[in-house]
Amino acid sequence: MLNCEVGMGKTFDIGLERLMGGSEFSIGSAINTIHRGRLKNEGSATFAGARAAASELDAIRGASRGTFFLETFGCQMNDHDSEKVAGVLLSRGYTQVESPESASLILYNTCSIREKAAQKVFSRLGEFGLTQNEGRIIGVLGCVAQQEGEEIFKRAPWVSLVCGSASYSKLPGLLAQVEAGNHRVTGLDTETDETFETEITRRDNPWRAYLTIIEGCDKACSYCVVPYTRGPERSRASDSILREVRQLAELGYSEVQLLGQTVNSYRDPTPRKMRFAELLLAVADAVGIRRVRFTTSHPSDFTQDIVDAIDSQPKLCNHVHLPAQSGSTRVLRAMQRTYSREEYLEKIQIIRGAKRAISITTDIIVGFPGEKDEDLAETLSLLDAVKYDNMFSFKYSPRPHTPSLAMSDLISEEEKSRRLALLQEKQREIQTARHLTMVGETFELLVSGKSRRENQWSGHTSCHRVINFSSQEQALLGKYVHVRVTGATPNSLVGEQAL
Ligand code: SAM
Ligand code: SF4
Repeated sequence: MLNCEVGMGKTFDIGLERLMGGSEFSIGSAINTIHRGRLKNEGSATFAGARAAASELDAIRGASRGTFFLETFGCQMNDHDSEKVAGVLLSRGYTQVESPESASLILYNTCSIREKAAQKVFSRLGEFGLTQNEGRIIGVLGCVAQQEGEEIFKRAPWVSLVCGSASYSKLPGLLAQVEAGNHRVTGLDTETDETFETEITRRDNPWRAYLTIIEGCDKACSYCVVPYTRGPERSRASDSILREVRQLAELGYSEVQLLGQTVNSYRDPTPRKMRFAELLLAVADAVGIRRVRFTTSHPSDFTQDIVDAIDSQPKLCNHVHLPAQSGSTRVLRAMQRTYSREEYLEKIQIIRGAKRAISITTDIIVGFPGEKDEDLAETLSLLDAVKYDNMFSFKYSPRPHTPSLAMSDLISEEEKSRRLALLQEKQREIQTARHLTMVGETFELLVSGKSRRENQWSGHTSCHRVINFSSQEQALLGKYVHVRVTGATPNSLVGEQAL
């Protein structure tokens, strides 16, 4: 159960930092193959190893242009955007460093989904005020860049680059302007039909690769700044997606996660016109791919054929993230969510009708303007009705450029906190009971973490549960093992390797 006051919970649970991989064309593939080869030989990857790999990349590409530090806030899509931005910079001859102090170029990839997240970037910019930024180029990317635009130059005159995600395909040209000494470079156009595809992607996770298949959002939820900051929906061509998946599989990635704000609204722009469910099956067909995930699904676009695909292909993970936002039709209408409580529950029925059990997780917002006690009671009863496997819960945060900003009947922060606590208590009960039923069951895990404690590891099930487990085996990272659950807490499971 996650209280996401800053951003969507990251699914990385690896203690291993930034490793590289993924590419569209030959030189990138060669470089990435070198890195993956090293990882496989070492068995347990280290940060030093990744750094050595980065210098190797520099050596291959020739003289370094400078160093960059890139900090990312927010959701998985931002994480993956940063992987691509890092790829753009590496291919221009920059070297990545791990502290802003040692960087000549500092970039913040920002999130503005809630106010707290947006504030963070201004405190970071404050840290690099006029006195400390000498000789450095500072850039703001992502949602805050789009939301605040040129205002950022006024608040932080030491910033030289402001670029929203819809303009990332123009990033090389914008960087060239900054490198030429221009101090007010902007990429703020959202009227685009382009997607951000890079020649090199510097992937942070050596086993699971993220792949954005649809950018922007055409929905208009009244609380949400995303349509404003990320622009209109644009889907990536299916052949380009499948080509990248095959390359990733060749490089040793066994799990891919397809990303989009509304991933299941995917519309193939090619004459092939692949449906989302067909794309899932085609991705799973790539030789070497063992797991395919996708997030976030919008309830209105969730169709039976997605469940049929999961039923027919075990490589499609048995997990669906289906944000409800509220259990009250009245509040859903005010949120402009395009479905009622009953329609949402019909989608849940489709998922529950699957031949194999599919875990369901959700996002809930409490304290939306005008939310009454009876609305909250309906949300609590939705939790009881669905019995979610996990929940991301948020207090409503008013955002600029959103319709809900003009709504009256605001709920106080204190009351929002009270409602959030009630919601989380309910979910805690549900998760505790659910986890207890899993004791004694055996799951296949992709091992993605090694504890400092001897013989302790962790990994994800197909249904996206984390299990911490013990094993006497060595070098398990990146491998698939079977684990028997021996104990449970509300938030995680513990187990031992089943031999
Ligand atoms: N596209 C996804 C969907 O339709 O559910 C959600 C993407 S959004 C980046 C992630 C979550 O942030 C949302 O599901 C919502 O619960 C939460 N969120 C978005 N705007 C919010 C706001 N103004 N206040 C609080 N939470 C918000
Ligand atoms: Fe925001 Fe709604 Fe689009 Fe999700 S579907 S990104 S919540 S506007």
